[in-house]
Order: sequence, then structure tokens, then C-alpha cells
Amino acid sequence: MLRGSWFPKNHKDSLERFFMKEIFSFKINIIECEEENFRKSILADNLCRGRILAIVMIGLETILAVIDVSASILEVDNRFHFSYYLIMYLLMICINIIPLILIRRFKDFQEKPVRQLRNLEIGLVAYITLVMSWGSIVSLMDQKLYGQLMVFMVNMIICSVMYFLDNRKILVPYVCSVLILIFGLPFFQNSKDVLIGHYVNLCIFIFISWLASRIIFLSYCNNYRSKALLEKSNILLEREIEQNTIINRKLTTANLQLKKLALVDELTEIPNRRSFRNHIDMAFETYFKEKSLLSIIMVDIDYFKQFNDYYGHNEGDRVLKVVANQINSIVRHNMDFVARWGGEEFIYASFNTKEEEIGEIAETIRSKVFELKISHESSKTLDYISVSIGTCSIEVSGKADVSKGIELADKALYLAKTSGRNCVKRWSLQ
Ligand code: GH3
Ligand code: MG
Ligand code: MG
Repeated sequence: MLRGSWFPKNHKDSLERFFMKEIFSFKINIIECEEENFRKSILADNLCRGRILAIVMIGLETILAVIDVSASILEVDNRFHFSYYLIMYLLMICINIIPLILIRRFKDFQEKPVRQLRNLEIGLVAYITLVMSWGSIVSLMDQKLYGQLMVFMVNMIICSVMYFLDNRKILVPYVCSVLILIFGLPFFQNSKDVLIGHYVNLCIFIFISWLASRIIFLSYCNNYRSKALLEKSNILLEREIEQNTIINRKLTTANLQLKKLALVDELTEIPNRRSFRNHIDMAFETYFKEKSLLSIIMVDIDYFKQFNDYYGHNEGDRVLKVVANQINSIVRHNMDFVARWGGEEFIYASFNTKEEEIGEIAETIRSKVFELKISHESSKTLDYISVSIGTCSIEVSGKADVSKGIELADKALYLAKTSGRNCVKRWSLQ
């Protein structure tokens, strides 16, 4: 994407290239597609500097004009052409009003078409040319009295270091002002020696001014290029971060959904067997003491196979959901845990709850399910859906004891089944 660069890898190379190629080049090497922005940026900076310089110049020339008029009234020196100088000072004030008007008129040039950008650039070059040519004319006038080129030199160095101008643009003011001086000097300077001295000094000074202007311009370009590259990579980075954030957000949501799916029973939407195991593990890690009392309640729907056969599997599913929600509504959520154990069986676990209380919870489950009054025509014992429950409370000292508790609760459930169903049986360890 780069058309060129100012400072290649090694420093020696960069200096060599700078002096041999870049410094004399008429082409501006800037990142492609950035040329218009670069022109706008450099113009904005030049106009800003031009404004400051114009204000300073107007102030300075006003002071000089006042001094000139005062000296003329007081008749300080008869050899001095007060009126010519006054005209020149007033002319300089007028010239400096140009950039101020330009800046005011084209305040929002950044949004305007490229054609206007070009007009502004031409205006700026014209202004600099006028300032420098003015310096040449005043220096010619100065020859009669002091024989110096000070005003020309000051104007030239100021314009060279204050504005960022490429070789093409700087050529116009340089050529105009220097030609005025070169061809004008023999008419204003009578001394041949002084004239030769002027020409030699001019050559050296013009070269130094141009070199200074070139160095300033090229470092501006270099800074601009680095800034543009940085901005580009920042935009890319921001885009990447944005995309990553979206992906991360989606991943988190997907993970949460996966976790939920893995731990929740699809049909009844209450925790499943895996979730039950997780809960037991967590309980052992968090609030389990050296010896804890674990109570298990096993719940099994009575004659459910017959229910399915009679009412259909879909109706069986619906009833499973209703029963599951009924049991889930009884659970003391911050202390106990309920899960679908499999098929039409549910498990309820509680740590450090008195045996009598467990009996009460089991009884509540049984009666609440029965109170649902879901017709069960094919039941061998009752007209409604009922559950048989087995409970067991044992002291556990590790995770291995949990299966023992479940096994015993299962035995109690078998007892309940053989005792006519729709009842609660406790497995007693004694
Ligand atoms: P018991 O009173 O001895 O428990 O008799 P039961 O018929 O309930 O027991 P059994 O173990 O013989 O049958 C359990 C039935 O539960 C078999 C199966 O059709 C039904 N079942 C298991 N899972 C589901 C399910 O997800 N949906 C439905 N609709 N039925 C299920
Ligand atoms: Mg069963
Ligand atoms: Mg059953």
C-alpha cells in the first residue's frame, strides 16, 4: 500500500536516501487513499500558521508605519524616502489581510470539494509569494541607505520555516522573490564589491532556507504517515476487539445454555440426575461437616405404565411434568434439592434435617400429588395419580456414603409399593 517511505530500516540508509532522493523530490510520498486527507491536513496547519503570522505582520507593519510617519514629521533624515516606505508598510498590511479573509471564507474547507482545496492552496502560495517579493523590493530600497538584504532574508526564512511547502509550491515564491532581487540589485546598488558580496551571500542563504524548509516539510510528512498508519491499525484493532466481544458474548450465552441443558431435565424442566450429583459434590465441598445427616426421599408414581397404556404416552408426559412441578414446589430451595431420578422417579435430598421433618416433607409430597386429582382409571388401587415414597436418613462421612443412602431409600420405596402404594415408608437403621 505504500508508495514510498522516508526512513527505511537502517539509519545510514535513511540519511543517504533523504539527501539523495527525498529532499530533491517533487513527488509527495504518502499512503495511498490518504492524499486528499493529507492535503487537507497540511492546508489546515498552514492556514492556522498563516493566520498567526498575518496578525503579527499587521501589528509590526503598523508600528513601522507609525514610526515612519513620525520620523517624516520630525524630519529625522532627509535621505530617507518616508513616503515609499509608508506605501510598502501599508501594502504589507493589505497583503496580510488576504490570508485572514481566506481563512474566514473557507472555514469549513474540509467538507468542501477538492476544487476549493486547490483554490485555497493557490491562494496560500500567492500570499507567500507576495510576502517574499515584498521583502525583495524593500531590500532593494534599503540598498540606498544601508546596503543590506535583511528584510528579504527575514521574510524568506520566516516563510520557509513557518509553512509546510513541498518543492513545487516553494518554487514559486522563491523564484519570484529571488528574480526581483537578482535583476533589481544592479539598479539599486552602485558598489560592485557589495553587489558581488550580496550575490554570494544570497546563494548560501537561499540554499540554507530551502534546506530548512525541506527538512521541516519532510518531517511533517513522516509524522502524518505514522499517524495515519497508527489510526488505521487502531481502527482494525478496534474492529477486531468488537468482533471478539460479540463472539465472546455469544460463546458465554451458548455455554450457559449448554450448562442449563446438561443439568436440566428436558421434559420436566427440573434438575436431572447429573445436576443432583453436582449438588451433592458441592454440598460436600461447602457446608458438609465431619459427620452429617443425609436424608433421601425417593418418589415413584404408582402404576404409571398402566397410565401410559390407558391415556397414551403424551398424556403420560404431561402428567410427569405436573407431578415434577408439584414436588419441586415443595422443596426448601435454599436447603434441599430435588431432581428427576429417571423415568417416573424423583429424588429429594436434604442435609442435617431431623428425621421427623423428612417424614413430614415426604408426607406433604404424597398428599400434594394426590390432591392434584389426576384421573387414573387403570390404577389397581385408586382413582387418581398417586406416589409411593421411601425415605432414609443416615450419617455420612464421605461421598461414598451417599449411594448407600439412596439404596436404603429405594428399599423403603419398595416397602411402600408392597404396602399398597400411595404411602410413605421410612428405612430404619435400627
Ligand atoms: P409401580 O407402581 O410399581 O411403580 O408401577 P409402574 O408402572 O409405575 O412401574 P414400571 O417400572 O413398571 O413402569 C414405569 C413406567 O414409566 C414405564 C414407562 O412407560 C413410564 N415412563 C418412564 N419414563 C417416561 C417418560 O418420560 N414419559 C412417559 N410418558 N412415561 C414414562
Ligand atoms: Mg419406577
Ligand atoms: Mg412407578
